This record gives sequence, C-alpha cells and structure tokens, in this order.
Amino acid sequence: MNYYSILQPQVQVSFKDAAILGQAPDKGLFFPTNIPRYTSDEWRAMFQLPANELGYQIMRPYVGDAIPEQELKDIIAATLSFPFPLVPIAHNIYALELFHGPTLAFKDVGARFMSRCLGYFFRNQHSKLTVLVATSGDTGGAVACGFLGVEGVEVIILYPKGRVSPVQELQLTSCGENITALAVEGTFDDCQQMVKEAFMDKQLSALLQLTSANSINIARWLPQQLYYILAMQQWPQHLGVPVIAVPSGNFGNLCAGLVAHQSGLPIHHFIAACNVNDAVIKFLAGAAFAPAAATATLSNAMDVGNPSNFIRIIELFQKNNTVIRQLISGYTITDEETLTAIAKLYQQYQYIADPHGAVAFSAVEKYLEKFPNHPCIFLETAHPVKFPETVEKVIGKPIQLPPAAIELMKRTGISIPIAANYSQFKDWLLSR
Ligand SMILES: *Cc1c(COP(=O)(O)O)cnc(C)c1O
Repeated sequence: MNYYSILQPQVQVSFKDAAILGQAPDKGLFFPTNIPRYTSDEWRAMFQLPANELGYQIMRPYVGDAIPEQELKDIIAATLSFPFPLVPIAHNIYALELFHGPTLAFKDVGARFMSRCLGYFFRNQHSKLTVLVATSGDTGGAVACGFLGVEGVEVIILYPKGRVSPVQELQLTSCGENITALAVEGTFDDCQQMVKEAFMDKQLSALLQLTSANSINIARWLPQQLYYILAMQQWPQHLGVPVIAVPSGNFGNLCAGLVAHQSGLPIHHFIAACNVNDAVIKFLAGAAFAPAAATATLSNAMDVGNPSNFIRIIELFQKNNTVIRQLISGYTITDEETLTAIAKLYQQYQYIADPHGAVAFSAVEKYLEKFPNHPCIFLETAHPVKFPETVEKVIGKPIQLPPAAIELMKRTGISIPIAANYSQFKDWLLSR
C-alpha cells in the first residue's frame, strides 16, 4: 500500500516513508491509496479469530511489505496486549473501554504501534532516530511509554513545567532508558514552538535524524480502526447494527472508525461528540468548516480548535459533504452537561466515567431522543482516575487506583529544566 499527500495526490510514498516522515514534505497529510473492502462473510470469519490475529489481518495491507510477517505479528501482539471490553450500561447502551493500556488512555494503541514500527525500521542502524514530542499532558505519556526500550530510537519530550497533573508528570518523567523529559519554563505553545523550530533547522537535521510522534502520523492513526472492529467482535448481534459515539478532538479516532466502516464493518451510524470546541459539529449541521481558537474545558484532551484530521474525513468521502452529514451526527456537550452525564452514569447505572466518555454518553442520550432505543456504543477513552478533581467531586468518593497507577505513584521522576528558548534547546540537543 502506498500513501499520497492530500495536497498533491501524485506524491506517493511507502508505509515506511510515511511513518518516518509523519507529514508529507508539502505539509499535506498522508492518506492510503486504497482501503480494503471485506464482505459480511469475511467479517464473520475474521470475528472468529483471536484479537492479535484479527489485528494482523486488518493491518497487513496497510503495512504492505515494509515489515515481514512475524515482526508485524509481534508488533500487533505488543500493541493489543491489554483488553478492550465492551461493557453493558443499559439495555441498548454499551461502553467500549479503551483505557486498559499502560497510560490509561486510548492513545496507547496508536503510540505502541507507531513506536514499534519505527523501532523495526531503525533496528541495526548506526544512526539513531530522535523523536521530539511537545505535550500538554496525555500524548507525551503514551508516546514515552510506547517507545520505552525500543532500540534505535530516543525520545525527547518537552512539557510545560507545573502545568501537567501529577499522574501525567510521572508518566513523562519516570521512564528513564531512551526517554528524556525536558521541563520547559513556559507554556505548551512554547514547547510546540521549540519542536517546530528544531524541525525547520537544516543544520540540526543534518546531524540528527528527527521525527515527530504527532497524532497525524499514519502509524498512529490507522491502528485505531481496530477499536471498532474489536467492538463489533464482542457485539451481541441480536441487538442489530449499532451506532457508535466517539468523543472527538483532533478526529483521528473517529476518522479511523470511518475507515473501518468503509471496509464494510457493519456500523449503522456515527456520533461525533465534542465539547464546546465544535468546529466539526457546526460543519455537520450545515455550516462551512471554520476552525477557531481552543477553549479550555473539563474534557481537555478534546480542546482542539482546528482538528487536523477533518481534512482526512473530507478526503475519505471524496468531498461529498451530503454523504458525510448523513453518516455522522454531531453534538456539542457543555461542561455542565458533562458533569450531569457523569452523575447520571454513576447514580443510574453505577458506572464511573471520565469527562471524555461522559461527553460521548451525553451525545448518545441526545441521539436517543430522536431515535429511541437504537442500540448504541460510546467510547470511554480515558480512565476516570486521570481526572480525579472532576469525577470525585461529582460521585462524592475517591476513585480506586488501577494497578498501573499504583505502580506509577511509587516511582520517582527525573526531568531536565530548560528555558523556553530554542537556541538553548539546540545547544542541549547537540551537547549530549
Ligand atoms: C486524544 C483524546 C481524545 C480525542 O481523540 P481524537 O482522536 O483527537 O479525536 C478523546 N479522549 C481522550 C481521553 C483523549 O486522550
């Protein structure tokens, strides 16, 4: 399979080059040249397979001959090394829990797959690959954990000092080995700016092989379709074809679900659930797409004003906005509605949701007002323990730490303080 730049379809590269480059040289996003299609019999047969084997079948065509069979099987096994349970909430509502990975949020799958692919491409190489990541919290942890111990790759994380939660900071700073955390005296935007300057610095890229672990990388984006496939593998077929609600920020996850749907996966309809950062929701309601500055909310991993994967959705449907608006309903959920959803899930269904999953549940409720009793799945993308200030206040009791968090809290973190200044960052990079 090749990948083309959405800005220039004639520019095509292999899976390997697309994964290493992250973004096309013209700054366009990469997109697969063809999406495999399976019949309902083929899906039924694939659902009989264990998750690892199913994941391998799905990802094989996207990777092509870039990675041999056994290595790709090992990568998939490491990517899917935790459960993705479909949990019944009400007679027609299920939660797909995507937070059982090591950093307790759904970004683990994409980060683990991408890191192992890059590790394979850079095995036995004299030159190392240096991954630079600016993070406001969640992404850095998933990337750090995904790349931990991967040979041939070093990861440098820039995070704004004092502006990430204690759990997040430990996830960034306690890995050691090939992971280094820089505590930047500044904001997330400063971190991002320093990384951007490093990528544009020709002198630096002559000395170091740099890449980003950005969420637009195809190796982070495409494996997310496995969530939808694993959901359907567990789905009680007698309920009929479900609607799936996706809490969305950058729209990578939802767009991966649409890819699976285009491969013939039986999903009736999608719900895009956003907080007040809702440029895509307004588009779905008929307006032109108008990105805006981000507003801070309780579901902060979705505080994205200009979702980068929106363009991939348009590409997937060959710019046919009518088809897009038929397949996806969009709902904007306020912080107040998010809190109400957390309370209702707890009081009525004894389920503790995080703010992101609660946004998706709230959107499901709005959809059900129009289509009563339709079977729905909402994606629960983070463990509630990552957002204790919000969740514990609503449910009125402490949330029990899962084993991964208990282990984490025992560790000590190390970070290197650095000014929000590119030339100091560059000196540090070159002086190691
Ligand atoms: C990143 C993230 C999202 C949003 O996913 P996108 O693919 O960016 O739309 C939702 N929930 C959580 C917990 C996240 O970390």
